[in-house]
Amino acid sequence: MSEIRGRASKMTLGIDLGTTNSSVSVYYGGQMQVLKMHGEYSLPSVVRFPDRKLNGVQVGQKAKKYIVLKPNEVFSSVKSQMRNDDWKDIPEIREKYTLEGEQITPTDIATKILSELKSEAQSWESCDGNFERVVICVPANTTSIYKQNVKDAAVAAGFGQTDETTGDLLRDNNGEVLGITLLEEPTAASLAYGVNKGFFNPKTSKEQNILVYDLGGGTFDVTILHIISEEDQAMPSFTPISTKGVAKLGGDDFDWALAEIISKRIFDETGVDILNDSKQLANKSILKFEAENLKIAFSNGLSEVNFVQPLEINGQDQNFDFTISIDEYKKSIDPLIQKTLDCVKEAMDSVKLTIDDINRIVLVGGSSKAPWIREAIKTSYKEPYTAENVDTIVSQGASYYGSLLASMVIDPVKPKLSHHYGVELNDGTFCPLFLKSSEFGDNEVLSATSIFYNPDDSGRVMVAGWATQDNIEIETDEKGKNKSYALVSARNDNGEQIFEWLGEYEIQIPRKAAGQVPIELTLTIDKQNCIHAKAVVEGKPTEADWKRQ
Ligand code: ADP
Ligand code: MG
Repeated sequence: MSEIRGRASKMTLGIDLGTTNSSVSVYYGGQMQVLKMHGEYSLPSVVRFPDRKLNGVQVGQKAKKYIVLKPNEVFSSVKSQMRNDDWKDIPEIREKYTLEGEQITPTDIATKILSELKSEAQSWESCDGNFERVVICVPANTTSIYKQNVKDAAVAAGFGQTDETTGDLLRDNNGEVLGITLLEEPTAASLAYGVNKGFFNPKTSKEQNILVYDLGGGTFDVTILHIISEEDQAMPSFTPISTKGVAKLGGDDFDWALAEIISKRIFDETGVDILNDSKQLANKSILKFEAENLKIAFSNGLSEVNFVQPLEINGQDQNFDFTISIDEYKKSIDPLIQKTLDCVKEAMDSVKLTIDDINRIVLVGGSSKAPWIREAIKTSYKEPYTAENVDTIVSQGASYYGSLLASMVIDPVKPKLSHHYGVELNDGTFCPLFLKSSEFGDNEVLSATSIFYNPDDSGRVMVAGWATQDNIEIETDEKGKNKSYALVSARNDNGEQIFEWLGEYEIQIPRKAAGQVPIELTLTIDKQNCIHAKAVVEGKPTEADWKRQ
């Protein structure tokens, strides 16, 4: 492909950089076409450095085989480690990321995955150039650190538009590399569903709430999107109004549940506990691998499956052959399914919606292919919409979005605030400065100013920023100022905090009686949820930057 590397492509790749699997699509011939990676429609998001050497890296299925067997050489599910820098504080993890004396990072692993996806996409027969433009999907409720890491990984993997003569990356006025766009995963998925199933006809569904149930390999996410379709717009506007999830619940747990059943039978025959005996790592690896295959066989409709496998146990080859029924399996995964259903309820409760307010439930993620998931949702809520390709639908939606961006039919989705943002008042209540769903319009940032007064004569005042997605009651006073009586320490029925703490800073003020010192507080917020707070007291400014993690 080297002869076309330098040429700009007319197409934009849509990438689902998943925790477990990644997929790539391109809008081609009027279709959201999924590209094959190593001959499959998705590539395991797994990277292996054999013998912990930096050279000879393996990406995808080859690396996945060694997850259990060679945990020290294999990097999987790194997406969660890209959300913040916490991994640096955990010595074992930092140690694992030190190869041949060099400190690599989770973002470097993502770079390897994106490079592999790019190079595989470029071997597609209709590839017309360098595929420098890309739409990469990110979870709905992720951190700005994660988004920045993804952008960095994309640049390192060779994405981004370049100047034809100098080869330098082109940047916009904010310094962002051109050609790399991030899109929220549930928005991408709903877009693909909507286009395929005609959800977005402004005549029939001008406003709707779509609940996206995304059960992948390692994580579960539920997002409620409020969608408005307008006659004169190529694309509806999507606002995530509620996001909940379970960080460690996905297809892997469904595999381990089956591996557990098999392991118990083997224990009964041999007295060896494969899953918990450190000398049984090779067999544990086989068990996990087989469990995933058998799980998919159940999912495809078998009422019983056979585990037929020779294993070497205590130096002896033994043949195992037993049958597992779907009822036994389903019983073992019931609590996991129930957890996802509870999470759906929490997502609705937190914005005071009921299932009657949800126009559609759409299924996303490989694990939602299973009939037991569809049945559970139908029984507890309503019949969900599903598609053949729930595991590639995110990248397909991203490719469609990319095609709209490229043809400039749209003004990319007008971003709106997903949270109420404000400060804590002295009595512990929340004073909102920005309301959820405020639109950015043509502005790069939103800005709001409010005057507060010193609560006492101590000569200092603490400004603390908070955000919430909850539908708290907000009033407007006669001066148009937002008011709420919600306590920032408030919790929901499940005991979870409703407010997220953004940060705080102390301002020195003149020592005057309470209510005598006006403090002019301005919050500025950008599309990446970065908040800048500035307080001016008697003409003197103090500033702080906050971020919602
Ligand atoms: P992620 O978004 O976490 O990267 P995917 O959406 O690709 O992951 O989902 C991967 C998970 O889907 C794996 O655990 C895999 O075993 C599971 N999976 C794939 N196909 C099926 C199927 N037909 N039935 C049940 N689970 C499936
Ligand atoms: Mg996914």
